[in-house]
Amino acid sequence: KNILIILGFSSVLAVIALIAVGLTQNKPLPENFKYGIVLDAGSSHTNLYIYKWPAEKENDTGVVQQLQECQVKGPGISKYAQKTNEIGTYLAECMEMSTELIPTSKQHATPVYLGATAGMRLLRMESEQSADRVLDAVSRSLSNYPFDFQGAKIITGQEEGAYGWITINYLLGRFTQKQGWLNLISRDRQKQETFGALDLGGASTQITFVPLNSTIEAPENSLQFRLYGEDYTVYTNSFLCYGKDQALWQKLAKDIQVSSGGTLMDPCFHPGFTKVVNVSELYGTPCTKRFKKKLPFDQFQIQGTGDYEQCQQSILELFNSSYCPYSHCAFNGIFLPPLHGSFGAFSAFYFVMDFFKKMAKDSVSSQEKMTELLRKFCSKPWAEVKTSHPTVKEKYLNEYCFSGAYILTLLLQGYNFTGSSWDQIQFMGKIDGSNAGWTLGYMLNLTNMIPAEQPLSPPLPHS
Ligand code: AMP
Repeated sequence: KNILIILGFSSVLAVIALIAVGLTQNKPLPENFKYGIVLDAGSSHTNLYIYKWPAEKENDTGVVQQLQECQVKGPGISKYAQKTNEIGTYLAECMEMSTELIPTSKQHATPVYLGATAGMRLLRMESEQSADRVLDAVSRSLSNYPFDFQGAKIITGQEEGAYGWITINYLLGRFTQKQGWLNLISRDRQKQETFGALDLGGASTQITFVPLNSTIEAPENSLQFRLYGEDYTVYTNSFLCYGKDQALWQKLAKDIQVSSGGTLMDPCFHPGFTKVVNVSELYGTPCTKRFKKKLPFDQFQIQGTGDYEQCQQSILELFNSSYCPYSHCAFNGIFLPPLHGSFGAFSAFYFVMDFFKKMAKDSVSSQEKMTELLRKFCSKPWAEVKTSHPTVKEKYLNEYCFSGAYILTLLLQGYNFTGSSWDQIQFMGKIDGSNAGWTLGYMLNLTNMIPAEQPLSPPLPHS
């Protein structure tokens, strides 16, 4: 009788097992996701990004997606040099949000990286000790979460340029093979053209692209990559102090005169706009050192005059084009090969151009239209600007005239774009839901998600 019961019980088990097998064969298994977190510690703010991708497709291109972005409230981490005890609270909100969003079972295997950029490069130039103290406090705070903290470091300008270039080309699907019949019948696979990357931060700006058949004359500007079975020789340069906030400090330091009586008539601000600047703050950055003079006042007042042409002339004086030890230069004697191909312009390039695009209600695709728009905008009285844009934050609004003029000057006179190559620049904030910036490329590289060779199963075409 016992044997019969056991036989009966085991046949029931067998049936259950068969049903289970049947079910799993007909239904796809639930996808197994992995997660990663990167904090972009910029000069003016810190942004946290959570990425998500299917574990099985790790080496395919275009599978990593940005799940969430979190803006840390407060300034950039370099401003915490004298109050490192506040860094824990500063990072808490975005880190706690990450613990709520990433499934508990995946948290211990989720890498966390923090990369600091030009704001911290400048702080390190002033005081290595202060920079180390900030990074130590950041590391201590980030180790307190249930993730796999991989470290906080200052990335180089070269890395910032390179990872920005990798990010946009990954998101734009430029690392996949060219689709089309020629590629199917030809044994010579056709590599797709990549996009160049233009990144404008508060303290530095980067330009990165694959030049056409020209040698990169300065070794410090040359990067070699093998990605998905293709070789790339990439030009990159990061201009420290030429981010838009530091460029403004430079301009103010250049223009303020000892005999001005504490007033600076500034064409890059709207008529009727005034602002008080502390001299100690002006000279508090290494970027203004070359213009430093003994001023007989501790503060001065900016008074806007709103003249675009004069503003552009004043900005132009920040770019030294009088010497070039190479065949071609950007400015300040830095090598720049002839521009080639399309470019994606992001970060502050995008924020500022997006403002003008919305204001113009049509495209700012031509450089002439953009110049005309700026001429009108800069000359508008500040009171009118404020009433026309009641929802735009004043700290950005009052600087759009300067920022627009700076972007035009940097692109046209600094990088040698022209009226016709202006069309090759696409201003981009996000690509398929992921922010354009260096963070995704940084994570792809540090988690070994970009194979040097093509994966055996071909990467998914970008859709
Ligand atoms: P960073 O903090 O170094 O990454 O630099 C970001 C730059 O973008 C800073 O110059 C910010 O002032 C600027 N920025 C951020 N949001 C906006 C916005 N909505 N409009 C204009 N500029 C912005």
